[in-house]
Amino acid sequence: MDDHYSARRLPVDPGETGWLNILKNVPSYPSLDQDITADWVIIGGGFTGLSAAKHLSDQSTGTLNIALLESNCIGAGPAGRNSGFMIDLPHALSGDSYVNDLETDRQQIRMNRLAQDFAVKVASEYDLADHCVDPWGKINAASDHNGQHHNDIYARQLDELGESYQMLSADDMFDISGSRFYSGGLYTPGTILLQPAEYITGLARGLSRSAASHFKIYEQSPALSFIRSGKHWVVKTPSGSITTGGIILAVNGHAESFGFYKRRLMHVFTYASMTKPLSNQQCKFMGGADRWGITPSDPMGTTIRRIKQGVETRIVIRNRWSFDPSMEVSGKRVETYTRSHRLSFDRRYPDLKDVPFEYSWGGRLCLSRNNVPAFGVVDDHVISACCQNGLGTAQGTQAGIAAADLAMNKSSNYTSHLTNHDAPSKLPSGLFSYIGANTTIRFKEFKARREI
Ligand SMILES: Cc1cc2nc3c(=O)[nH]c(=O)nc-3n(C[C@H](O)[C@H](O)[C@H](O)COP(=O)(O)OP(=O)(O)OC[C@H]3O[C@@H](n4cnc5c(N)ncnc54)[C@H](O)[C@@H]3O)c2cc1C
Repeated sequence: MDDHYSARRLPVDPGETGWLNILKNVPSYPSLDQDITADWVIIGGGFTGLSAAKHLSDQSTGTLNIALLESNCIGAGPAGRNSGFMIDLPHALSGDSYVNDLETDRQQIRMNRLAQDFAVKVASEYDLADHCVDPWGKINAASDHNGQHHNDIYARQLDELGESYQMLSADDMFDISGSRFYSGGLYTPGTILLQPAEYITGLARGLSRSAASHFKIYEQSPALSFIRSGKHWVVKTPSGSITTGGIILAVNGHAESFGFYKRRLMHVFTYASMTKPLSNQQCKFMGGADRWGITPSDPMGTTIRRIKQGVETRIVIRNRWSFDPSMEVSGKRVETYTRSHRLSFDRRYPDLKDVPFEYSWGGRLCLSRNNVPAFGVVDDHVISACCQNGLGTAQGTQAGIAAADLAMNKSSNYTSHLTNHDAPSKLPSGLFSYIGANTTIRFKEFKARREI
């Protein structure tokens, strides 16, 4: 417990996210330029922060004043940079084949599906486009026997869990993706494919319209500090402040920037590129279905989606990882990994080498060594809903809802799930963890090289 928490660093988002840049008419919100009061302040406007805001607003039926501070613009941070797989099934990034023990996986599935229900409800309530929350499912694609082996392990776990799936042959993969790169795949029907920036900006817009009397978003308004003042906290931004009864910290890895969970959070980046729209001829040449989502059967491989938004078809590709405790990466790093995206794209579509990338970017993720969230009350009326272990579309949604329930002193499925974990375990000291983690990443990427 402390009287004063200052942000040691603020988020820096490298490269322009394609998902946000291809949207039209994205609403903007003012920055905070005065001293105001609110019952609750939510710091961070990603999946976690906005889900918390919506749930708190719905549950309190408008009796609480809520202010949300976002350092960047809504949709420009990791929430609008990810690949949009809102996955129902186990997807542990730390292992080789995504699976945990059966009981952990069972609980995770139950909670992920509740988060998906929340997203579907948001889409219907705020009239989001069909492509924005698309129940297409996903394919774990293999490109060699190693990948096939991962899929076999995954399939055995799904059998034990009683979950449905379909094994796909190389020809099936060709029919769907138009690529001969894949030797097989494992299709599961429950994943929702999001247009992540459209979902996040749609959630923000819908909520700020429907709850206009008691919910306000402030963009370009980083929380620089929060200071105890009697029974209240005063949250300071560069040009204003909010005196508040409570704070929900929804900043993912930046919890550590405020001094929480020191040396317990792993700050990792991954990188993505989006092509220019494909011409009709290029679409014909590519073949396959008009939209799909592929994750690699080895977690270190390449994620790829074909998206259709209105008349435009594009490919979005993501791969490569780096461990960056500073929480910043250079533009040069994004350029290096854009070259990796080019190679991966060309290996899958050698006849489409002339399709250029229009956007390339990197994004932060926060993991813990023991794969648990950084969730709970960290000071009087300060709730941390951080560390989504790379799966923030579903797990951030859950953490946001759980934080809102905690704020209202309500116990729920969400609060019992999120509070039923150990704390994130300690990492080895600075240099050791830097070298150790980056060496492990390079080694795992080498093992997964055929899937990159
Ligand atoms: C390229 C890429 C692909 C990914 N693919 C997937 C995927 O397919 N499926 C999936 O589930 N997950 C995926 N992820 C992970 C996912 O994006 C994150 O887990 C998720 O965004 C975390 O949600 P969050 O709301 O907790 O945190 P964030 O999205 O990081 O939001 C936190 C917000 O807090 C703001 N903030 C931080 N500090 C301050 C401050 N001091 N004051 C005010 N605001 C502050 C930040 O600007 C940010 O907008 C991917 C990530 C990347 C980078």
